[in-house]
Amino acid sequence: MAHQPLEHGVLSQGRAAVYEEPIGPPGVRIRERPRTKPSPGSVAVAIRAASIKHLDPWLAHGACRIAPPRVIAADGAGIVQESADPAWKAGDEVVIFPTLCDWECEWCRAGENVRCPRFGVLGEHSDGAACELIHIDARDVFRKPAGLTWEEAAAFPLTFLTAWRMLTTRARLRADETVLVIGAGAGVAVAAIQIAKHIGARVLVTSRSEAKRARALELGFFRHASLLGSTMGNASEFEALLKAMERGLRPVVDSVYPLDDVQAALTRLDAAEQFGKVVLSIST
Ligand SMILES: [Zn+2]
Repeated sequence: MAHQPLEHGVLSQGRAAVYEEPIGPPGVRIRERPRTKPSPGSVAVAIRAASIKHLDPWLAHGACRIAPPRVIAADGAGIVQESADPAWKAGDEVVIFPTLCDWECEWCRAGENVRCPRFGVLGEHSDGAACELIHIDARDVFRKPAGLTWEEAAAFPLTFLTAWRMLTTRARLRADETVLVIGAGAGVAVAAIQIAKHIGARVLVTSRSEAKRARALELGFFRHASLLGSTMGNASEFEALLKAMERGLRPVVDSVYPLDDVQAALTRLDAAEQFGKVVLSIST
């Protein structure tokens, strides 16, 4: 399948955490980007919080084939500042759907955004959410679940969407079933635990010891999970996830850092010390 995920029209503006050099966390620096008006069909969202993921330190170390500069972070939540699309108005509180797609192809029209030939990940195949203002396609934002704090709203999209698709669409997990979650601590694993508990299933979690993790790897679950996890999820799955959030499903926030301390946030993720999501707080 042709894969052309570039040029999604995402613009990260204002103060932003920019990956500039493949030297680890010090290579991600705060830069000021010019602010412009949103183009037709897009919205300008003032980001209140963004969250980083394992990919961001990898990216900062140069492990991904992504040419800097790149504004990091797949997840963000904030307030519409200006809308160039009738679907949204200034003041609307939104979360960003982290799956990039063109919304136009046969797959997107069939609701299969993850199969889009231009599928990508926000903050990887486009600039990301670690910025004061993001311009993004109006179809890529969804109403923020009312009960979530800004930090929680920024903490869940990518990992919960990935785990939601894995457990519901793919595994069709039910309340009377048991799910084994490997490597608790990482974002997707914590999301899987929360979602499985929300569904009412029994959850088994492997220890953090290397030996047991290696044994679990032999069982083949990780390979499976990794394969499924790489696809994130469709807009319809994101909507179902948002409904579950309205019913009480919650992400786990490990820690919150101001945007200016992005290097410390990346270092925490780099050291794999976290349980849940590492969030950047972005004041306006
Ligand atoms: Zn498409």
